[in-house]
Amino acid sequence: MTGKAVFVYSQEQLSYRFNENHPFNQKRLETTNDLLFTLGALKEEDIVKPRLATEDELLLVHTRDYVEAVKKASSSQSQASFASTYGLGTEDTPSFPSMHEAASWLVGGTLTAVDCIFNKGYDHALNLGGGLHHGFKGKASGFCIYNDSSIAIEYMRKKYDARVLYIDTDAHHGDGVQWAFYDDPNVCTLSLHETGRYLFPGTGSVSERGSGEGYGYSFNVPLEAFTEDESWLQCYEKAITEVAEYFRPDVIITQNGADSHFYDPLTHLCSTMKIFHEIPRLAHKIAHQYCEGRWIAVGGGGYDIWRVVPRAWSLVWLEMTNQTESVIHSPIPKSWIDRWQTSSPEKLPETWFDDYSIYPDIPRKKEIEKKNERTVQKALEPIFKQHKNVPL
Ligand SMILES: [Zn+2]
Ligand SMILES: [Zn+2]
Repeated sequence: MTGKAVFVYSQEQLSYRFNENHPFNQKRLETTNDLLFTLGALKEEDIVKPRLATEDELLLVHTRDYVEAVKKASSSQSQASFASTYGLGTEDTPSFPSMHEAASWLVGGTLTAVDCIFNKGYDHALNLGGGLHHGFKGKASGFCIYNDSSIAIEYMRKKYDARVLYIDTDAHHGDGVQWAFYDDPNVCTLSLHETGRYLFPGTGSVSERGSGEGYGYSFNVPLEAFTEDESWLQCYEKAITEVAEYFRPDVIITQNGADSHFYDPLTHLCSTMKIFHEIPRLAHKIAHQYCEGRWIAVGGGGYDIWRVVPRAWSLVWLEMTNQTESVIHSPIPKSWIDRWQTSSPEKLPETWFDDYSIYPDIPRKKEIEKKNERTVQKALEPIFKQHKNVPL
């Protein structure tokens, strides 16, 4: 699968920073980029700098009063009460100076990725600064101010008339993107996440299937807490394969949140690096099979910024550029470990894959696997009904 790939990045993406102790930490962009450079897998000429999204572009999805509220909250002197109406200034999404501009850089990055594909002859584009999937039309939520993926999707709809399949493998439900296109039959959303029973944002049940003309174009696979690699991958493979064949997109956009790993401090899934090897591999295959290669990938969650995110996100770029096989059988470069170990509170990994001894045996393993199997089957019901005449 040959294709031309571009890596969207500039220092401005690091300015999206709430405060010192906030779990959302863009240091992970630096550690990831450094790992790729150290491997020789990323070169200066692969990188395109993002542009700043314009206000009109933000308004493709967000309401004017919300964008005005973000701008107002960005000026440090006004931490007024209006902010909380818009989900700003909360513990999860605190206001910070220049937040409007910082968030606009991340949106601009995903729009740059789109233009590289539709206008500049690239097949694949990666913007690890994007993936802020909880941003709502008129409200900030869950560390997300502007929703870069939603804006990029609407931009692709309007400018390039593309049918878009959005695939979200973050451990949290991709709610912002789902709700933005809930009634749109030309945008299909698929989210695999830890069940919302105990985890933010609480939505993402199989019964959220879209509304009006968009009914049947929203898919959710809520997985049990403590789900392990094998069951996670079984559900992913089944869901992505069936949904792609059913929807036949012109372009895919994948959200690559790296918070499903056992080490992640905010979630309760038990996956290892194995799933982060498989996630982009299958997405890549789908892109070539249905979309003439058109694949935009963005980042997302990921709160173990030392042991998990650099490896997981490197694997997306390595897959896009067909370099995975030449890298993953060797240890993680010692020079990268030496450079970052003093900053990391945990011992940095020396290999690409994890040993299963990192977590204890899961007593409910079988039960969890069975439940997940039933969930994915139920999630895909509209497909089986419409195309396969399988009695239900
Ligand atoms: Zn390719
Ligand atoms: Zn997440």
